[in-house]
Parts: sequence; C-alpha cells; structure tokens
Amino acid sequence: MTSTETAAPVALTGTHCVACDRGFYPGRDLCPTCWASDLPAHDLAPTGTVATWTVVRMGNLFEVPYALCYADFDGDVRVLGRVVNWAEDRPLAPGMTVTTHADAETGDHFFTVDHASAPTGQEA
Ligand SMILES: [Zn+2]
Repeated sequence: MTSTETAAPVALTGTHCVACDRGFYPGRDLCPTCWASDLPAHDLAPTGTVATWTVVRMGNLFEVPYALCYADFDGDVRVLGRVVNWAEDRPLAPGMTVTTHADAETGDHFFTVDHASAPTGQEA
C-alpha cells in the first residue's frame, strides 16, 4: 500500500443549481439547463460508484499503465479520476465504490476503489 492509498477521503467542491436540482463538478457559474447564475458551492459525497473505466498505457503524466474511471456521485454528478489502487489483476467493474482523495502532487484529486465492493457477476 502506497502513501496515496492511505490519504484521508475528501469531498470535491462543485456547484449546485437550486432551480433544477442539478449538481456540477467542476463547478459552473451558469446552469446549462435553466441558465440560472450564481450557483452555490456544493460538496460532493466523498464516495461514488464506478460508471465506466479504462486503462491508460501511454503518456508521461503518470507512471503507466494506470486506470481512469468515471464515477457517479449523488446529485447525478459524474467525475473522472485516476484509480491509484488498480492493478492488471485487480480489474474494476461498474458499481464498485470509489473514494475521493486530494492529490497533493497534482493539486487535483484521485480515487481509491474498494475491491470488495464489486457487484456479484460484474467482475471484468
Ligand atoms: Zn438549473
């Protein structure tokens, strides 16, 4: 286990449109559905569920290969993030639980996945 896997969970701060009950991450100044402005800041839950994922095998931003996933959070918000505890022999699956962490290295966020949370019959 690396130090990144033991980092405390954090809530990502986006915005929320009160008029049409839509959440956004990253936050938006203007709601694309109803054009409301001055959207209040809104913290996402620190955990979401895997919607889909892929493996990145080329690039120089992070050591390859690494996994990226879209995770769904309460409020119908979908967030892209790197899954730091993925491995070739530990695939992800839709519905698995991810936890958000602050990434001090990039100033952004990353996910850890709970490998025990795989829905039965969904293992890739
Ligand atoms: Zn709206």
